[in-house]
Amino acid sequence: MKDVAVIGLGPSGMTAALYLARFKLDVICFEKTSPGGQIVMTDRIENYPGFPDGISGYELAELFKKQLQAYPVEIKSEEVLAIKREDVITINTSSSDYQVRSVIISTGAYPRRLGIKGEEHFTGRGVSYCATCDANFFRGKKVAVLGGGDSAVEEAIFLSKFVKKLYLIHRRDRLRAVDVLKERIEAISNVEFVLDSVINEIGGDSKVEFVNVKNLKTESSKRVDLDGVFIFAGYTPNAQFLKDFLQLDSGGYIITKEDFQTSVEGIFSSGDVRSSSLKQVISASGEGADAAVRVSKYLDNIKGTSYD
Ligand code: NAP
Repeated sequence: MKDVAVIGLGPSGMTAALYLARFKLDVICFEKTSPGGQIVMTDRIENYPGFPDGISGYELAELFKKQLQAYPVEIKSEEVLAIKREDVITINTSSSDYQVRSVIISTGAYPRRLGIKGEEHFTGRGVSYCATCDANFFRGKKVAVLGGGDSAVEEAIFLSKFVKKLYLIHRRDRLRAVDVLKERIEAISNVEFVLDSVINEIGGDSKVEFVNVKNLKTESSKRVDLDGVFIFAGYTPNAQFLKDFLQLDSGGYIITKEDFQTSVEGIFSSGDVRSSSLKQVISASGEGADAAVRVSKYLDNIKGTSYD
């Protein structure tokens, strides 16, 4: 039986695993794709201290991974399907069952789908949720970016370097993004702001050819011909597989107490999947470290009871 399982190896999970390994605990990690999480899809991270010129998300994830791999941590490329809590905790994955004394869930979140007509049909055929992955396909073309938060603006700034024209479509009359990003995008000449508006249809033949944009103030709709639509409308937490096991908030995020412990004893959570986390790389890492310390204390406390 392992001391602790870490589920999800984004910045939070990788930091938790690093701390746990340094406490000499026996750690097993589960990651269904490869370690890195959402930051791998982020072009540049400029607010992670220690990198005054910024760093690409991919590079930062690689550095996290390299640091973790210097320790004897077992990493399984398996999807966790369920967790059960009886006398011991059982983790059920796509390949096997594992028994552990404690768990940190740091499964993060994935880009929110909006259910726009044509969105699902054209995903991968002009609809994208990752500018870093797909910008190159849209060199010299016209695209729309939907959303007004930090992700939308940051990714639109990146995309504007590839495309001929970019429409930033946002449902309100002002952007939600921080001022430094707003100022930067407002200075870009091939970006046109389409405010108070939503996309109500994405259409085309075999790939995206147009969107229908509805102005929410005037209620009028117009067709805009373009080649791609990038959607950055927030995130959905990767916690649905735990909905019958743990207490989730109304948005589906995992509720924790101050010590990062969830509604089930011995199960902790950190990072973007946790209710009220800040959703920054630095805070996800910080929460991973904090959760690891709490787990180590928890294991000390149960020594002599269920811990042999
Ligand atoms: P977000 O801040 O929640 O922004 C989501 C955007 O999508 C908002 O503009 C929202 O509009 C819009 N939206 C949501 N549902 C929509 C719908 N049904 N139709 C049309 N538009 C819709 O998400 P985010 O930008 O991904 O950021 C998530 C968190 O990560 C935030 O805390 C953010 O600060 C952080 N983040 C930070 C950085 C950075 O520091 N550099 C970079 C990326 C993300 P409204 O504004 O009207 O709600």
